[in-house]
Amino acid sequence: MNNKGILIVVSGFSGAGKGTLMKELLTRYPDTYALSISATTRAPREGEVDGREYFFVSKDEFEKMIAKDKLIEYAKYVENYYGTPRDYVENKLEEGRDVILEIEIQGALNIKKLFPDTLLLFVTPPNAEELKRRLVGRGTETMDVIESRMNRACEEAQGMENYDYLIVNDSLDSCVEEMHAIIRGEHRRSSRN
Ligand code: 5GP
Repeated sequence: MNNKGILIVVSGFSGAGKGTLMKELLTRYPDTYALSISATTRAPREGEVDGREYFFVSKDEFEKMIAKDKLIEYAKYVENYYGTPRDYVENKLEEGRDVILEIEIQGALNIKKLFPDTLLLFVTPPNAEELKRRLVGRGTETMDVIESRMNRACEEAQGMENYDYLIVNDSLDSCVEEMHAIIRGEHRRSSRN
């Protein structure tokens, strides 16, 4: 049995509440999980801090990261680039932590190709009305951007079948524990193989 951590990709519609779920999972199990912080060219939302939610970089800086092979994967999402920095992920896995990547579907499928043992989780709000309510309620995006994100959600719904588990985010508490149980189960399964 090896003691390396496993890679876990969490995707889900923008507004599905993934961010809150991840924060709670890390608060409850700080020694088990590490959350990868992505680089992005999108502007910070109010309250977001560079190096905490994302590394906010210019398009030029992002392209340099690509050229220097500093990203494991990257994708364009509604006019902005997002990518996963390589060093952090590799170091944490080596230390035995499970590393969570909160990324969209294109990136998820690229990661799965590179690392076939990756566990793919898809988080969805209970229904489409709830999704829109959360996106509008967040109050950080213009209606144009919300519409683009809803359209993207419809596209992403087609790709859900590529995921190992679908998690319906109706209650924070039970969702966090469900996710933790799925990941522990995956460890037991992979140690038997
Ligand atoms: P947001 O702008 O709402 O923070 O993120 C938009 C989308 O980009 C979300 O689906 C989020 O999961 C995804 N995303 C964040 N970081 C990365 C990344 O490093 N790579 C990829 N492929 N997608 C990412």
